Amino acid sequence: MKYALVNPHWTFDGSIYFGCPEPHLPLEYGYAKQLLEDEGHEVLLVDGLLEHLSREEVRSRVADFAPDFTVITTAPSYLFWRCAQPELRVPQETAADLRDIGGTLIGVGPHGSSTPVITLKKLGVDLLVMGECEEVLPQLAQREAWSFVPGIVYYGQDRNIKVQGGPQAADMDRLPALRWPESLVRRHDHHHHRFDNHPQAPGAEMETSRGCPYHCSFCAKDNFRDGYRRRPLTTVLEELDGLIAQGVEYIYFIDEIFLPKRELLEALVTRPVKFGIQTRIDLWKPDMIDLLGQAGCVSIEAGVESISEEGRALLDKNCKLSTEALAERLVHAKKTVPFVQATLMESRADDPDAVEAWRSYLMEKGVWANKPVPLFAYPGSPDYRKRWGMPDDQAWERAHAAYLEQFDEFSDIQSERPLLLSALERAVPISRIPEDQR
Ligand code: SF4
Repeated sequence: MKYALVNPHWTFDGSIYFGCPEPHLPLEYGYAKQLLEDEGHEVLLVDGLLEHLSREEVRSRVADFAPDFTVITTAPSYLFWRCAQPELRVPQETAADLRDIGGTLIGVGPHGSSTPVITLKKLGVDLLVMGECEEVLPQLAQREAWSFVPGIVYYGQDRNIKVQGGPQAADMDRLPALRWPESLVRRHDHHHHRFDNHPQAPGAEMETSRGCPYHCSFCAKDNFRDGYRRRPLTTVLEELDGLIAQGVEYIYFIDEIFLPKRELLEALVTRPVKFGIQTRIDLWKPDMIDLLGQAGCVSIEAGVESISEEGRALLDKNCKLSTEALAERLVHAKKTVPFVQATLMESRADDPDAVEAWRSYLMEKGVWANKPVPLFAYPGSPDYRKRWGMPDDQAWERAHAAYLEQFDEFSDIQSERPLLLSALERAVPISRIPEDQR
């Protein structure tokens, strides 16, 4: 069978999206491609963002390939599944563009993982995968076997929507070391969240683990990348060495939480590569922070969220350190890591003057702390469920409207007043399954 894996050319006009708009490696498609090829399928990866392709060019590439299946993601790479743009405008347009030439259309991503039925309808695809998709896609090659595949929602023979099982989690031992084409690596000049130096050579993204053992109230990971799983060290190093051999000088580890692991850090010490991570500084003892710096870490994004214990408790951070101890570790990290950020969120428990004083204190010591950003209650996050119960067909609209109402001031990376979700998305689902595929 022939599978096209399509990452659209993303745009976020009018969106509340606060993720990085630059291109990143679509790790989920990298794994899927290798697993599909291992089973004898032919795979075309089309990355509209990394390859700077217009909608017409994406369509033309897919049309030339004439796939049996076309996979469309609803978020630009795994890195942003937890903070995806709420609107489905771009994947809707992509599905419409590819409807007549893409074969069976399959949606993957965070939206369908948390709200499968309405996402299936909105996207106008034939099937959606719930949760992590790489091991599910090969199982879809035979239409007759769909009724045995867990973690999918699709139109059955009777044209009713069938929801089968729940969100899937990949077995990290089964996922291979990724190999990326030279042409894609050469194009990847973005160094995600790096501020110490200008890129001289390509950057890349990798993961050493997936998921997180914590359950912060705002974190939208319950339906994917939830349970903490490490990749085997040998696989990580094989992938890393392959990227270094391709000229990559900087890796951003997209792990939800990059936890201290001495063996990995010692292996990094000996390799000519810099890297960035996101983590919780409360989990790093000073000696491991020093090793992190020696290993080549140049960027730490540490989720502190609130400057008070009360605020962190409200967000279910389960943090055992005091605010003073957190500040001490951040300042310690700055001794060996050029860029250290304490990420703050609007917890509604903190005195704004105290927040400013804390930010000033850290910034005097060279640690960046952002102004607290507003929280979007992602469907799929504990916050959403606390406020409105289980997500229904209006979940994204409800969370989006509440966000717009609640906050007059928006984060400094949201450049314009966001539009309502209804103004950003296609209102009417586009036509879906050709008769001969029903
Ligand atoms: S520490 Fe909290 S915010 Fe970070 S990944 Fe884990 S649950 Fe999400």
